[in-house]
Amino acid sequence: MAWPWWILIGFGSLAGVVLLLVWLADPGPMKYPVSDHFDGERFFMPEGRPVGNTSLGAVLKWQWEREPAKWPETVHVHPALPEARVAGRRIVATMVGHASVLVQTEGLNILTDPLWSERAGPFSFAGPKRVTEPGIRFEDLPKIDIVLVSHGHWDHLDVPTLKRLRERDRPNIFVPLGHGELLAKNGIEATELDWGQPVDAGPAKLEAVPVRHWTSRWGADRNRALWAGWQVTLPDGIVYFAGDTGYGDGGFFPEGGGTGAGGWLADPFGAAASRGL
Ligand SMILES: [Zn+2]
Repeated sequence: MAWPWWILIGFGSLAGVVLLLVWLADPGPMKYPVSDHFDGERFFMPEGRPVGNTSLGAVLKWQWEREPAKWPETVHVHPALPEARVAGRRIVATMVGHASVLVQTEGLNILTDPLWSERAGPFSFAGPKRVTEPGIRFEDLPKIDIVLVSHGHWDHLDVPTLKRLRERDRPNIFVPLGHGELLAKNGIEATELDWGQPVDAGPAKLEAVPVRHWTSRWGADRNRALWAGWQVTLPDGIVYFAGDTGYGDGGFFPEGGGTGAGGWLADPFGAAASRGL
């Protein structure tokens, strides 16, 4: 049976509005110098696309054939009560959930990709919903000095959480190039860094480092901004946070598999069964 004309027009108009919004969400080329990972329009991985079949057909085939993991409605966690500060070379890392980790060392409280929202996405009523409470209640978080954001995907850059942190603690927020404007529009001050541009932060040196990933929030803005891992160099070692990354040839990971004496490493886990891609 043919669909009534008014339904077709309705769907057509809705699709048109969505496409227009996606197109409007593209900020256009950023004003950064051309480099080995920015062509003046978009960022890219200097070594090119990873070897593998990432065609649309391959993605659809994978989606069709894969058996989705059984996901529980809810998983109970006992939230941790972190110390106010951790002095000296001791490193205490507390998992909050997904890519959010509190790292405490040398008197610094560092938070990666903070996300305390109920859902990851542009809407509070739709999008992937958390099945666990955060591993630390927001109100139990010690005063945060440094926030490191790896890229713009909704499950890593969560504007409402960054706003809460900004209002409560005024931390130094660091983002890879291209994310500062979005945050500034929301009243959040942040420092944009390119790969390999170290900055001093008290006893630590921070540096955005290359990882194999990409970024986008709305589709048309794909790779208008940069993605990064973070390396924090401390007097006795390093803390390394990869954000999201593919493994590639592994050559970009820090020397010694990631940890020097007193070092600590956070790599992504999970969501990696699509080996055919
Ligand atoms: Zn991502």
